Amino acid sequence: MENTNEMQLIFDSRSSNESFARVTVAAFMTSLNPTVEEVSDVKTAVSEAVTNAIIHGYENEVKDITIRCRTEGKTLYLEVEDKGKGMENVEQAMEPLFTTKPELDRSGMGFSFMEAFMDHLEVVSTPGEGTVVKMEKIIGKGRKIWTTQSL
Ligand code: ATP
Ligand code: MG
Repeated sequence: MENTNEMQLIFDSRSSNESFARVTVAAFMTSLNPTVEEVSDVKTAVSEAVTNAIIHGYENEVKDITIRCRTEGKTLYLEVEDKGKGMENVEQAMEPLFTTKPELDRSGMGFSFMEAFMDHLEVVSTPGEGTVVKMEKIIGKGRKIWTTQSL
């Protein structure tokens, strides 16, 4: 399809790579002419997913995190994958305020933020095998197009 672009990024699950990951995705999506707010929404979602892979998926062991990005038309498709411990009950994990690490001052709001800031969120996880967080955001939704008639 025309207007399709793809990239993949594989990096170590170190918290120092969180900002690298979100800035890279932000740079990749610039071809969609996003607003500052749209970029900020995507950066927040990437941060939450990458943080989860580091602290929950790998429990701070250093292994690979893969981000796959695709733009197609006005839509940004994003996948954040770890090959870590996975989740027994994804539905429960996605509930607001649910956390398995309250002792680390986690508030259990990561998935809720991803859901709020993106247009679509799907989590595929297998215990012992890992997790893929799939997200989509439509860029330019509801942006006003001014014509002389609207003046
Ligand atoms: P917060 O994101 O607010 O700091 P949190 O990370 O616990 O807290 P969520 O991001 O909503 O909250 O995740 C909820 C729960 O889902 C986590 O506590 C964890 O048990 C599980 N989880 C999330 N991502 C992963 C992952 N990549 N691998 C394994 N478990 C995960
Ligand atoms: Mg989280």
